Amino acid sequence: MKNFLITGGLGFIGSCFVVNQVKKGNFVVNLDKITYAANQENVAEISGAKNYKFVQGDICDFDLVYKILNENNIDFVVNFAAESHVDNSIKNADEFIKTNINGVFSMLKASLQYYQDLKADKKNNFRFLHISTDEVFGSLSENDPAFNENSQYQPNSPYSASKAASDHLVRAWFETYKLPAIITNCSNNFGPNQHKEKFIPTVINSCLSGKEIPIYGNGKNIRDWIFVADHCYGIELALEKGEVGESYCLGGESEMRNIEIANLICEILDEKKPRNDKKSYKEQIKFVEDRKGHDYRYAIDNKKAREKLGFNLTKSFKERLEETILFYIK
Ligand code: NAD
Repeated sequence: MKNFLITGGLGFIGSCFVVNQVKKGNFVVNLDKITYAANQENVAEISGAKNYKFVQGDICDFDLVYKILNENNIDFVVNFAAESHVDNSIKNADEFIKTNINGVFSMLKASLQYYQDLKADKKNNFRFLHISTDEVFGSLSENDPAFNENSQYQPNSPYSASKAASDHLVRAWFETYKLPAIITNCSNNFGPNQHKEKFIPTVINSCLSGKEIPIYGNGKNIRDWIFVADHCYGIELALEKGEVGESYCLGGESEMRNIEIANLICEILDEKKPRNDKKSYKEQIKFVEDRKGHDYRYAIDNKKAREKLGFNLTKSFKERLEETILFYIK
């Protein structure tokens, strides 16, 4: 059994990871500020478990993080907490700088202070795992090779710049202080419990509520999509088998244009929950003004994660999308 400090564990991805670890019998402290993106329902099935503790608080609060680490004898810190929506970062980046940069700085400081006082065997097994994004690498054109761990950092949005800054801090805390840190850079996630502001829930909810389905620009932007449970599996492997000081890219090996996804969702819903007038949900698609600085393409090369961690994907994108749509219908 391991003792985890998981931050941002009421959000979309963090909650999936929290539920998995509690079900596996690990002890989990979930530290979450409860921003607009948090949802206690995401962890409802384990919230009464003896091996689960919830703390409402901010990752910027050094004293609180240090206290949690000490009082709970933590083995693994997994940092999901972040402001995560690009559009919000374009409107106002303040919270992104605070949480994604200052918050990670505070997590690293508290973790290092805790780590330095650990006894040798506990010290050898301690890990600080930082969850990051492929958006730190910027944008690809149509025929560029996919991002990998050696790709240059070229963030384009306030969100991705703040995540890039946090990756650099984590790297520096390993290089300078030997804090046993690992970074994972993941592609776009989808699945149950994602906040309704994100692309796939927006498309599904717009279909089901009879509203226009907004698609940025010409809809040709390409993203690589990974199912949230596959991402969480990759994170677990990085903790078990990853080398400290390394980063691992995790992708879904499913590059799709936004308009292709919207069309696919409409087709699945046409079959599973047809409109009353029997017309296709595609009638609701509406192209809207493009996002400022909209990155054209993201793609991830999973080679290192496959070879070094044994990472793999179990189901096709379409199967996972169907599961996701059924969740939202329910
Ligand atoms: P989310 O927005 O759904 O959840 C974020 C959670 O963090 C929320 O519960 C929120 O309350 C909490 N939080 C925010 N600020 C906090 C603070 N200062 N202190 C404590 N808790 C705080 O995010 P998500 O989609 O689950 O993403 C989780 C992580 O994965 C983020 O670091 C994000 O950058 C990264 N990531 C996300 C994706 C994606 O497609 N969603 C892809 C790659 C990487």
